[in-house]
Amino acid sequence: MVDLSPTPRVQAVLAALKQFVEREVEPLERELARRLEARGLPERGLWNLEPDGTLSPIVWEIKREVARRSAAAGFYNLHLPEDAGGGGFSRTEMFFVEEFAYSHGLGMKPAILAWTEGPNPMLLALSAEQRRRLLEPLMRGDRSAAFALTEPQAGSDVLGIKTRAVRDGDDWIIRGHKAIITNAQYCDVAQVVAVTEPGAGSRSLTVFMVEATRPGFRRGATYRTIMDDGLTGEIFLDDVRVPDANRVGDVGQGLPLALTWINWRRMCRGGMCAGWGKFLLDRSREYARQREAFGAPIGALQTVQRLVVDMYLDWYAARSLSLAAQWEIDRLGPYTIPLDPDAVRLISTIKVANDEAFFRIADRAVQVHGGWGLLRDNPVETLFRVARNLRVPAGTDEIQRNLIARGLGLGDR
Ligand SMILES: Cc1cc2nc3c(=O)[nH]c(=O)nc-3n(C[C@H](O)[C@H](O)[C@H](O)COP(=O)(O)OP(=O)(O)OC[C@H]3O[C@@H](n4cnc5c(N)ncnc54)[C@H](O)[C@@H]3O)c2cc1C
Repeated sequence: MVDLSPTPRVQAVLAALKQFVEREVEPLERELARRLEARGLPERGLWNLEPDGTLSPIVWEIKREVARRSAAAGFYNLHLPEDAGGGGFSRTEMFFVEEFAYSHGLGMKPAILAWTEGPNPMLLALSAEQRRRLLEPLMRGDRSAAFALTEPQAGSDVLGIKTRAVRDGDDWIIRGHKAIITNAQYCDVAQVVAVTEPGAGSRSLTVFMVEATRPGFRRGATYRTIMDDGLTGEIFLDDVRVPDANRVGDVGQGLPLALTWINWRRMCRGGMCAGWGKFLLDRSREYARQREAFGAPIGALQTVQRLVVDMYLDWYAARSLSLAAQWEIDRLGPYTIPLDPDAVRLISTIKVANDEAFFRIADRAVQVHGGWGLLRDNPVETLFRVARNLRVPAGTDEIQRNLIARGLGLGDR
């Protein structure tokens, strides 16, 4: 019999996290609101932007403080193996922790966990010396990273990137343009995927850690995305000189390493969508009970009940699928490269099933809330925009279906 309930150590972490949220994160959220108010800005939490569309440095600072405190309290690195200084949690265990962090909706709670900006399983390919220099500052939350793969002409088509790294003695010279990159504006270091051997197919790419202080590293404009997260932008690499000691893994190993990073983000969708989905479901249930139309709560109307029930069905199905799939992935072994072919199918299943279910959930949550659900700054409206976004980064819905089709023995790409 399979027991998918939280293990005792997960239960202990969830209890400790609850206290951490009350004692550390919520006071920081209140401090953020005070600081924004002092500047005459409305409290839009993670969505407070500067005039050029970049996330307010005040918000970023508080977000980093949450990460630093979370690292010190032992939560930020739960997803990394113990021999790297992490918590050694399995994917199934991480599911519950991620679900908890996102179940509070927006605000600073999700910053408890490493996300795009944080230490990640791709960096386990670093040597002991590199881990001390490049990974540990990320694990302490002292530094933040960006993952720079996408370019103006190539996103899904990873082997279509043009950023070039050419060896020069003990260094590499990197030239290229990275686009639609999360944390382009604030990252201290970018994990840059570059072509080192043109025409070598799956062996053509290599990953480098490029500090933002290096001459030739230039941040471009902030993009106004559907989420208005203020964190998405461009990075230009104008002949940036990087020591070979900043290379991640072997020359030519860039594609599998990049996929390790991407697969981690894909699997995190399980807990993220379960947490945010529950947040929207609870809010919509409550709203349907309170809001009256034609002399009675709208929750008494069967058409509105159906909206809420369909939210629940999507949430329950996606959550169950995530748990089952992450449990299977744990049984197959580490999900780093080389990946078991079944793990590829399962990881894409988690991503596309959650992203699409959560999009339907968010759409129905807006509908239950009527006009109020469409007002900017209502978390329901914000999460609807976030939900639409999720279906593209870290691999589109279509790319996930391609990979699942391949796992089912269909097609060759
Ligand atoms: C908010 C945000 C944050 C992002 N953050 C990062 C980041 O931190 N780092 C990073 O490197 N990138 C990041 N990206 C980029 C993101 O990963 C790409 O946008 C995504 O992979 C899709 O690539 P594309 O935009 O070039 O679209 P394309 O690859 O051009 O795709 C366009 C359409 O064609 C479809 N398509 C393409 N190829 C196939 C195929 N083989 N089969 C079927 N359909 C196909 C796609 O599914 C899509 O519908 C981010 C994007 C956004 C919006």
